[in-house]
Amino acid sequence: MHYVSTRGHAAAQAFSEILLGGLAPDGGLYLPDAYPQVTGAELDAWRKLSYADLALAILSKFATDIPAADLKALTDKTYTAAVYRNARAGDAAERITPLRVIEQDGDKTLLLQALSNGPTLAFKDMAMQLLGNLFEYTLDKQHASLNIFGATSGDTGSAAEYAMRGKRGIRVFMLSPQGKMSAFQTAQMFSLQDANIFNIAVAGVFDDCQDMVKAVSNDHAFKQRYQIGTVNSINWARVVAQVVYYFRGYLEATTSNDQKVSFTVPSGNFGNICAGHIARMMGLPIDQLVAATNENDVLDEFFRTGVYRVRSAAQTLHTTSPSMDISKASNFERFVFDLLGRDAARVKALFAKVDSAGGFDLSGAPGSDGDEFKRIAEFGFASGRSVHADRLATIRDLHARYGLTIDTHTADGVKVAREHVKAGVPMIVLETALPAKFNETIREALGHDAERPAGFEAIETLPQRFDLMAADVAQAKAYIAAHTGL
Ligand SMILES: *Cc1c(COP(=O)(O)O)cnc(C)c1O
Repeated sequence: MHYVSTRGHAAAQAFSEILLGGLAPDGGLYLPDAYPQVTGAELDAWRKLSYADLALAILSKFATDIPAADLKALTDKTYTAAVYRNARAGDAAERITPLRVIEQDGDKTLLLQALSNGPTLAFKDMAMQLLGNLFEYTLDKQHASLNIFGATSGDTGSAAEYAMRGKRGIRVFMLSPQGKMSAFQTAQMFSLQDANIFNIAVAGVFDDCQDMVKAVSNDHAFKQRYQIGTVNSINWARVVAQVVYYFRGYLEATTSNDQKVSFTVPSGNFGNICAGHIARMMGLPIDQLVAATNENDVLDEFFRTGVYRVRSAAQTLHTTSPSMDISKASNFERFVFDLLGRDAARVKALFAKVDSAGGFDLSGAPGSDGDEFKRIAEFGFASGRSVHADRLATIRDLHARYGLTIDTHTADGVKVAREHVKAGVPMIVLETALPAKFNETIREALGHDAERPAGFEAIETLPQRFDLMAADVAQAKAYIAAHTGL
């Protein structure tokens, strides 16, 4: 299997060659030259597999340049009950992503797939934990090392640090805006004592942190000398690791391959739902893929109208589902590539228009950039939007009816899923975080705190390790130079 860029110009690459990188050299995103197909016989056989073995079966189709025995060691090490603590009584820990029915109304069934039982209590662990092991394995083979430099406002940074802690050949330098993360998120990151993790609290806001990362990324000499890399959501291995739980959810919700299911996915950068799209392109019988957004509704607008209109940082609202507060969806280009029949020249032109004019229009209206929006249903996509009041109402409703507390992002998913569920087609909502991470809003909705999983009761009281820095690129570079010894 080879990987090509959505903008057409990069040379085809193998899985291991694109693993450590981000964008393709032409600014596009990598995708397989063709999606591997899954047969009915395979699906039947996969019904009996553990999560780790299912991950191996699916990854083998994409990471064709990694020997099967090595891949098995990596998936076994990643998808174990030791990593994915079973946060909920009654679920079998070896299932890793347990599915439960939350609501049944006649023939309409709503289910919740738990993806947040990893070390940082959010779904990003599902992919990031595998990435940590894949990076270590690949760097070992190449006798190379990597210094990950990133900025976080919460979830991504902690998932990356917990995936990379203690890994040979890897250091993590993570900028975060000083005093702007929740006490819980700050404690999660800053309590890490591993020698290869460097938390840097920047006197500024998240955009300052991001600007510092961009400035360093644009300094190619510095990047090369200090072996700087990233782990952002466009990383292909992250997307492919997420494909696995769509298969798992499907296999658990059905008894025969004649049945279909739908998924609703709380969405921001389109990484999670992009994995659902890939599962569907591989032949998984998915009916609908529903993107749920918060007040930052770039994606909902596109899936309702065919108009993709990115927002500026200033137009991006701070909401109570903050991990979905995005102005442009960084993985969306992968879907657009398929929607346009893999016409890389047109993808390139459309995303040049995003940079020059803030978006594009595929609605087919006079003067638009194309009419491919009429094909959206062929790809199963639908969408909806949820705002703060919906979030509170949904959290209260599920708590009152079923004694179930869900996080704010998952609440956006449930709200939108209820608008799209069809009779006879189970609708699976992907749970993207545990409520303890967003406790302020849980307290607003329910008047009491969210339950914390074991081990997190007193996380704020643990000793913290971090350095303070001004929002200054020169200081960041000096810090990296001093701590890498390169
Ligand atoms: C990252 C994140 C999302 C959004 O996922 P994308 O892959 O960016 O669409 C949703 N919810 C939570 C809790 C997250 O951390």
